[in-house]
Amino acid sequence: MLIVMDHHADQEQIEQVIAAVEALGLTAEPIPGSLRTAIGVLGNQGYVDDSTIRNLPGVRETIHVSKPYKMASRDFHPEPSVIDVAGVCFGGANKPVMIAGPCSIESEEQMLRAAEQVKKHGGQMLRGGAFKPRTGPHSFQGLGLEGLRYLRQAGQACDLPVVTEVMRIEQLDTVCQYADMLQIGARNMQNFDLLKEVGRLRHPVLLKRGMSATIEEFLAAAEYILAEGNPAVVLCERGIRTFEKMTRNTLDLSVVPLVKELSHLPIIVDPSHATGKRSLVSVMTKAALVAGAHGIMVEVHPDPAKALCDGAQSLSGDGFGKLMSEVGQLLGFLGFR
Ligand code: PEP
Ligand code: MN
Repeated sequence: MLIVMDHHADQEQIEQVIAAVEALGLTAEPIPGSLRTAIGVLGNQGYVDDSTIRNLPGVRETIHVSKPYKMASRDFHPEPSVIDVAGVCFGGANKPVMIAGPCSIESEEQMLRAAEQVKKHGGQMLRGGAFKPRTGPHSFQGLGLEGLRYLRQAGQACDLPVVTEVMRIEQLDTVCQYADMLQIGARNMQNFDLLKEVGRLRHPVLLKRGMSATIEEFLAAAEYILAEGNPAVVLCERGIRTFEKMTRNTLDLSVVPLVKELSHLPIIVDPSHATGKRSLVSVMTKAALVAGAHGIMVEVHPDPAKALCDGAQSLSGDGFGKLMSEVGQLLGFLGFR
């Protein structure tokens, strides 16, 4: 870390900063300049918590040189990670993985029909929410345990690994029994206790970007899981909140190539929550694949008009079939077999 002092900072203030750095067990190296003094901080193994230093008198800014996401970074792990979810591999040179299914699990029949459509058109994994983080308490909250059973049954019937969201630590044991991959939703991306707890498991995790999270915060959230010992993290861009109201969120596609530069973790894209509009899902899926996404997660419902959640952004079975034939052509063009 580098601490930049104000140009009028006096010697006493500089010494106070040096003492604060030393109190953290680190070494301070003053670098006097013609306009101002900078103080280099040496001896840290990783990111330095600068909260005690940032507000000292005479400090203009602190510049972090080491990243808060050491284990998630390419510096730490130069080769891309490949995450195996019950035989479906994300990342590296693997063909992008197509995950599809309804927003929420609504009934045994709905889930089975959705799974059949996903399988028929070549989807490799099944999604469905049993615990739903809805904005309002009066909206459908999900079927809970009953939903997990329907998801598992449908996945088994169609030979598809399943991913579902877990919202609380107390749900982890149960969700692990039914799901091949645990989803941490956008609203929980910075639920650090939950992240630490899934970090202690060996279940693969799909970590969605928080709706207002910077890329650094997104990778730091992944770091929480890695730091506890679980290396199986797949990132998911799902749009961020901006001033734009015509789409549900703003799909930040540049995050895909950027995260691939910064991190070894696979990254997939969810064009359904990113746009909120069925008519945009197909084109943004293809854009994400061109940008280099390691997979796509898309909402598919047997009867979107009757969906209890997110019908407007859900594809029908036929819609998914059409998307998959376009994706097949595109992946061939991109050199995937
Ligand atoms: C979901 O994928 O079901 C979901 C709720 O998405 P997000 O957490 O991205 O809003
Ligand atoms: Mn949804």
